[in-house]
Formats: sequence, C-alpha cells, structure tokens
Amino acid sequence: MTQNEQLFDAAQKHIPGGVNSPVRAFGSVGGTPRFFKKGEGAYVWDADGQRYIDYVGSWGPLILGHAHPQVLDSVIAAARDGLSFGAPTQREIELADLLCEMLPSLEQVRLVSSGTEATMSAIRLARGFTGRDKLVKFEGCYHGHADSLLVKAGSGLLTFGNPSSAGVPAAVAADTIVLPYNNVAALEALFATEGDKIAAIIVEPVAGNMNLVRPSPAFVTAMRALTERHGAVLIYDEVMTGFRVGLQCAQGLHGITPDLTCLGKVVGGGMPLAAFGGRADIMGKLAPLGPVYQAGTLSGNPVAVAAGLATLQAIRQPGFFDALSAKTAALADGLSKAARDAGVAFSAQSVGGMFGVYFSATPPQTFADVMVSDRARFNAFFHAMLAEGIYLAPSAFEAGFVSAAHSDADIAATVAAAARILGA
Ligand SMILES: *Cc1c(COP(=O)(O)O)cnc(C)c1O
Repeated sequence: MTQNEQLFDAAQKHIPGGVNSPVRAFGSVGGTPRFFKKGEGAYVWDADGQRYIDYVGSWGPLILGHAHPQVLDSVIAAARDGLSFGAPTQREIELADLLCEMLPSLEQVRLVSSGTEATMSAIRLARGFTGRDKLVKFEGCYHGHADSLLVKAGSGLLTFGNPSSAGVPAAVAADTIVLPYNNVAALEALFATEGDKIAAIIVEPVAGNMNLVRPSPAFVTAMRALTERHGAVLIYDEVMTGFRVGLQCAQGLHGITPDLTCLGKVVGGGMPLAAFGGRADIMGKLAPLGPVYQAGTLSGNPVAVAAGLATLQAIRQPGFFDALSAKTAALADGLSKAARDAGVAFSAQSVGGMFGVYFSATPPQTFADVMVSDRARFNAFFHAMLAEGIYLAPSAFEAGFVSAAHSDADIAATVAAAARILGA
C-alpha cells in the first residue's frame, strides 16, 4: 500500500469518509485522495513524496502560491502577538478599510470565518432589511452549505425549491426559488409575479462551482435592473471570484454595483477568513446597530486577518492581474490547442486567474449544459494528469486556479502532459 492509501484507510476510522469536506474524497473521479504534507509556490508534495503542479490552490485562496514568504511573515508576526482575543484589534480596521478602498460597492464590511457564514449572514441581512422571505438562486451555483441554499429546482420554472440535502426542512427550502443560470426570460417571469415577495437574488457572478460558466451581459443587467425595480437586494457571492477574476472582482468586470457582496477564499490568503459587505443602509441593520443578529467567536481573527492583508497587498501591485490573467489564458489556450490537434471534443476558457476545462466542443452556458459534458473522459483525463504530476480539481464540476507562483515552464509542462494524454 502507498502512504496515501494507508492514510486514507486510517482516516476513515474516525473521520466520516476520511475527509473533512466531501469533494476531497475523490468520490466522483474514484481512486485514493492524495494526502499533502507540504506546499511551496506552485507545487504540493503528497505523503509518498510525489510532487504535483497544483491547480487547486486550496480551492482558490492561494493566489500567491503555497507558503508565500510575505504571507508567512505576516502570519507568524501576528501569531506571536496572540492567536485570538474575541475583542477588536487594529488590523481588522486596516483590512476593512482596504476592502472598502479596493471594492467601490463596499461602504461597510463585516469579517467572518467562512464563505458559508458570509452568504448565510448576507441572506439573513437581506431578509431583515426588506422584511421579505423569498430568496432566488440559480441552478448549479454553490453558496456554501446553509439550509436555505442546499436547494434544487422543483418541477416547473415558478415552483419553489426542494431540499438537495437530507436534513434541510422542506419549509426552509420552500422559500428558495431556483432558476436556470443565464436565463433572462425566467428571471423576468418570476419577478413579474413574485417580485414584491423577493428579499434577494444571490448569484455567483462568474459561476465556478459547476465548472466555470460565464454569465451573459443580458443576464447580469437583468438581475441588477429587476432587483432595483422591485426593492430586492442583489447579492454577489464573490467568495470564489473575489480578487480572483480581477482586482475589482467580477462586479468590476461587469460594471455592476451589487447591494451586498460576499468574499472568502483569496481574501483570507489560505486562512479561515471571509467577509460580507455593501450598502451602509443595509449593513446598518446588523447587530449591534440594528435588529439582524450575526456574531462569531473567531470573527476577524488576528492571524487570519494578517494573512488576508498580506495577500491583498501583494495582488494590488501594478501588473499583478495582467500577468496572472495572461498566464491562465495561456494555459486554457494551450489545452484547447492540444485537444484540437488530438481531435478530442474539448474546450477551455479562463477569467482572470480562474479557468474551466470541458469535455464538450463549446463551454457550457447553464447547469444543464454542464451535465451533458463527458464525465467519464474527464475522470480518465484527471487520473492521467495526476500520474504526470499535475493536480487538477478531483471533479468535472469545479473550476481550476492558477497562482502567481506558476511559471511559464509549469504551464508549458502542463500543456505538454495534456497533449500526450489527449493524443492517446
Ligand atoms: C467556496 C464557496 C462558498 C463557501 O465557502 P466556504 O468557506 O467553503 O464555506 C460560497 N460561495 C462560493 C461561490 C464559493 O465558491
């Protein structure tokens, strides 16, 4: 047995499924998950000492690569001063000020410890602000694992949602309406009949949890116009896209000012930190100022804040996103060309430092499109790339991430490996 196999066996004794978050178990691709013991720059090493070029980056946060020296220095200095106080600290002001400076839609922001907390709290706040209960989400978008978000579409466009997880009460799911992504007509039809009952739309402004799906400009415009007209709150869930697709996130690319924004992943630089923020009149409804309760023992944790600050300061350097975007586009273009040369039905695209690869001739527009791509081919490709020392997300439904630490040689090696595999 390999070390990875032994560890996976041992893990399953006291950890359900051997993992602390389900996709890590390799359930959809099969095989043994790799247990990592070290990361540096663009590389990770598993328990058997095998090195991989990493395109997961802890699912997005590690935009500077693993163990970035400035982030480590900042974290270590903060840790020496104490791990947690449960009282305000000066660095929280620095991070809040920096976030509001970098993202014009943020007038105020609150720090939390996970993306799930950010979305869950933003939704409660939107409901408290509007005095309405209904929530609109889109099929294939993931917003964390809060009850009201683990909901799938019912039959028929205007029916209310069904729980997509055991343990979610039907009554909670009933207040979530699930519509197809990129479908303006469905959105208009819903607001025409239910608009005055809708508290909020929550959306992944570039979807990254059903592989990468780009929104159409018409879809983006319709969400903003309809929520404005009907007094609903537009929540951009930028937990994945925030400071990943560009310095002003997806909202900067779209030219849209959402009412509330959720951030996570990159904003914590690899530590448990997330945030939600937006219009001051809405944020003012939060306790202790207002009636909407929200709290956290470790919220604004000083060590996590230090990692976030160091990460944001690094990505603000002139040219950072141009270089990252160019590198990520080179990867997507290289993979597409390799597939074309091999005559394989395949496509790839990128937005900033995020990319999608699809075993279909064109990139998907909706969750239904994603579902028809060739999953068996992806799984074979995933394992062949893994054997070549390239670590992709272990699922056909996840986006990939490039970091500033990936060199042109890493990208070239990845494309060369893909060309060998697709050719075979
Ligand atoms: C990862 C993610 C979340 C959940 O964040 P956690 O930190 O895993 O709770 C929410 N929304 C989006 C868009 C995400 O990608």
